[in-house]
Amino acid sequence: MAAASEALSTILHRLKQTHPNARYELNWENPLQLLVATILAAQATDERVNQVTPKLFARYPDARAFAEADLAELEELVRPTGFYRKKAKAVQDVCKELVARFDGQVPRTMEEMVALPGVARKTANVVLNTAFDVPTGVIVDTHVARVSQRLGLTRQTQSERIERDLMEMVPRDEWVRFGPALVLHGRYLCTANAPRCPECLFNDLCPRIGVTDAAAAPPPPARTRPMPSAAAKKAKPSPASKKAGGGLRALVPPDWQAVLAGELEKPYFQELEAFVSAERQAHQVFPPEEDVFNALRFTPYDRVEVLLLGQDPYHDDGQAHGLCFSVRPGIKPPPSLVNIFKELHTDLGCRIPNHGHLTAWAKRGVLLLNAVLTVRAHEPNSHKNQGWETFTDAVIRALNARKQPLVFLLWGAYAQKKEQLIDTSRHRVIATAHPSPLSAKKFFGSKPFSQANQALAELKQKPIDWQIPNLGDETDD
Ligand code: SF4
Repeated sequence: MAAASEALSTILHRLKQTHPNARYELNWENPLQLLVATILAAQATDERVNQVTPKLFARYPDARAFAEADLAELEELVRPTGFYRKKAKAVQDVCKELVARFDGQVPRTMEEMVALPGVARKTANVVLNTAFDVPTGVIVDTHVARVSQRLGLTRQTQSERIERDLMEMVPRDEWVRFGPALVLHGRYLCTANAPRCPECLFNDLCPRIGVTDAAAAPPPPARTRPMPSAAAKKAKPSPASKKAGGGLRALVPPDWQAVLAGELEKPYFQELEAFVSAERQAHQVFPPEEDVFNALRFTPYDRVEVLLLGQDPYHDDGQAHGLCFSVRPGIKPPPSLVNIFKELHTDLGCRIPNHGHLTAWAKRGVLLLNAVLTVRAHEPNSHKNQGWETFTDAVIRALNARKQPLVFLLWGAYAQKKEQLIDTSRHRVIATAHPSPLSAKKFFGSKPFSQANQALAELKQKPIDWQIPNLGDETDD
């Protein structure tokens, strides 16, 4: 522990450099919304919670509305976050107490917060630290617990004891920022099953407590593409996924479900669901299930201005998150993405960002769609020809059929085969070389970004802002 204390100032400094404005990824506008979102985030991703809360907060604008809600209706609204009966009841019980004791307001002290039904220190710290900027303690969730243990900052396993250790070591004025920064580090780099130690900012000082050599080593070289096993071919979606609402199709965002409805009922899609389900049971598959349809989630059907088509998700640990060419924050941009940024700089003068996370483009109307949406870890193209291409062709057809025209960016021969699905008399196709190092010489100078904006102007649509903000910049992304 003494060595860990000495390393702590370095850890704090590097965390501050990497995540200067670390914050939770839950969306909220007032303390009550943060409290409710935090309750819903138990055993669920922040992204999943963020999908649910806009409708939830519109339906129940204050604690009284939650307290008086029809419980069955509340359950339905929070159902996608899992454990929905328990969570709906927890939210309602807390809100009843807020109405009875605090006139519907969220209290500002730890003592009052933990006296609320079902509210423990972690939830109280999230709300008090984040919504009120009160340093009541260090938030300890599963990520903070794991990373603190691996870094040797604590030997404890219970969250309250871990928090006590961290509160003793970390200066009080750092508490509010330290928790969220460690969460981001744990979520994107020091993950539970595949920590990316070779790329970690602490790898020169981390004792890697509890990390096996195999987990800390670089991923093995790619092997040949596996043949799907007979079991995989026969497998059906798990009872759990059926109960949750129908496997993959339940994860397709509602607006896209509406335009792809017939597609999701076809036999090939059911076989695809069974294949992916069996693959996940037997192997590690990227991206995680909740990220598979991120391209569709971040770019609603009627907001697509540009479709950029990729091929296969990244197959190394922690890279893929459902947007083509994009990697998670904290992950080194792969060579194709580095070349994309170089061309973007040459073409439009955009600053090269300090990360490779392209969500900003997706939210601005660039549908970052791969032709295949899942892959077995470290085995490129391993989910090719299992039905994804048929599904993503249907996405292209749906966009082609849309009244409002759009721009298709097709990089490389594989993507350019899809031109046959596009009515080029209505839409604009910009076909250039692929940014891979193998064809980068031809890609450089192709000016796809300014061409896309020129085409959008001709279609009387607003141009895309292609500048990706740096991590930590204050933006709406
Ligand atoms: S070196 Fe490895 S175990 Fe240590 S914090 Fe970094 S990713 Fe986690």
